Amino acid sequence: MIAPIFVSHGSPTLIFDDVPARDFLMQLSKTHSRPKAILVASAHWETPAPRITASPAPPTIHDYGGFPGVMYQQQYPAPGDPALAARVKALLDDAGLSATLDPARGLDHGAWVPLKLAFPAADIPVLQLSLQTHLGPAHHLRLGEALRPLAEEGVLILGSGSLTHDLRSVRWRGPNEEPEWVKSFGDWVNTALVEGRVDDLVNYRQRAPNAARNHPTEEHFLPLFVALGAAGKGARMERLHTSVTFSVLRMDAFEFAA
Ligand code: ZN
Repeated sequence: MIAPIFVSHGSPTLIFDDVPARDFLMQLSKTHSRPKAILVASAHWETPAPRITASPAPPTIHDYGGFPGVMYQQQYPAPGDPALAARVKALLDDAGLSATLDPARGLDHGAWVPLKLAFPAADIPVLQLSLQTHLGPAHHLRLGEALRPLAEEGVLILGSGSLTHDLRSVRWRGPNEEPEWVKSFGDWVNTALVEGRVDDLVNYRQRAPNAARNHPTEEHFLPLFVALGAAGKGARMERLHTSVTFSVLRMDAFEFAA
C-alpha cells in the first residue's frame, strides 16, 4: 500500500524559489517508500469526462505564460505506462466513470513541478488523470475510490492542486503575511481532514469559511478529493507540510494512510 498524497504545487517557479514548500517536496522521496508508478490528478487538466495519459513517453507541457525563458526549457522525461493506463481505464469504467485513453497528452506543470522536486531522476512511470471540475467534489471522491486498488498495488495516487488559490489576491512581492480569510479556510480544511468529516469536506463550499473567496473556481481544490477517495474509508490524515507563499497560496500537503 502506498498512501495517497495531496500536494499544493504553487507557482511553476517553485522549482527555483527558495521556500519551505520546495524544501518539503525535495525531501519527500527520502521519507517515503518508492512507488512503482505515479498517477497524478492535476488541477491543470480539465475535460468533460475522465481521460488518462497513455503515451509511453509523455512530453513535458509548459502550460503557462509570462515566465523567464528558463521555464520553457524544463523537462521531466519520466516514462509513461500504457498498460497501467489501460488498467486505470478499466477500474474507472467498472465504477461507471467511463474514461478514455489519451495517447498524445503529456505532463502539465501541476504534475511535473512537484515530481521534479520529489523524484528528480524521473525514472518512475507517470500517468495523469483529468478533472471534471463541473461535477464537483463528490465526483472526484468517486474517482479516487475507484482507484484504491492501485494504491494497494504500490501506485502513488497524487492529487496536485492548492489548498487555497485566489490568484487575484497574490502578492508577488512584499511581506508574505497570511490574511485571516486564507488562514480560517486552511485551518477549517485541516481540522475537517483530521476529524474525518468527509461530508463536510464534500460540502465545503457551503460549510467552510471563505470557501468561494479562496477558490473562485474549484479545480485546485478537487485533487484533494481524488487522494481522499483513494485512501478509503477510515483513513488517517497526516499533514506533511504547511506554509504560505505570495501571502494567499497555502502550500499544505496531506497524506492519507490506511
Ligand atoms: Zn496550479
